[in-house]
Amino acid sequence: MTFALTSAADDSTTSMESSCPGCGLLLPSCDGPAHPYIGASPACWALYGEVLAREYGEFRYPSVHRLTVDTYAVQHPGEPERRSIQSVGLHLIGLCVVLEGGESPRRATSLLGRVAGHAAAWDWLTPPVPNGTQTVADVLRAATRVEHERAVRGWAEDVWSAWSVHHATVRGWLRAASHSP
Ligand SMILES: [Zn+2]
Repeated sequence: MTFALTSAADDSTTSMESSCPGCGLLLPSCDGPAHPYIGASPACWALYGEVLAREYGEFRYPSVHRLTVDTYAVQHPGEPERRSIQSVGLHLIGLCVVLEGGESPRRATSLLGRVAGHAAAWDWLTPPVPNGTQTVADVLRAATRVEHERAVRGWAEDVWSAWSVHHATVRGWLRAASHSP
């Protein structure tokens, strides 16, 4: 009897799972809110919310926060439209300046403020498949702040390298924005 009940519960769980259109995470379906143009399933968006809550709370706003936000946005590009093109472009440049340029997160943020004015010139970049192999779920497994920072950096490098076919384009956008007044 117990076995039958467990089995029925497992069946219903399996049929209610859905995969995130961005990172591919297979999670139980939920009806929660999703972002208007970041292409995440509500269940994945909720996990991301947990990661942010830990960064704002117990991890006291770690410097990797900038990478967390950039990586999640790049891994969930959504559909081609003006807002998503500008968002993905900005967050790709964010990954580029921190991971390749070695910029501090604070300097990256001020740099992106200036780069954003050039977003009208950017095009939709076809997202890689798969869009990285690590996800926000890997980050959530970290038990300590040090583990968390290591997990975020690994996730960011994984997603940035998945976009390698577009690296030259992103560097070009950054250069164009840096060289104009
Ligand atoms: Zn996702």
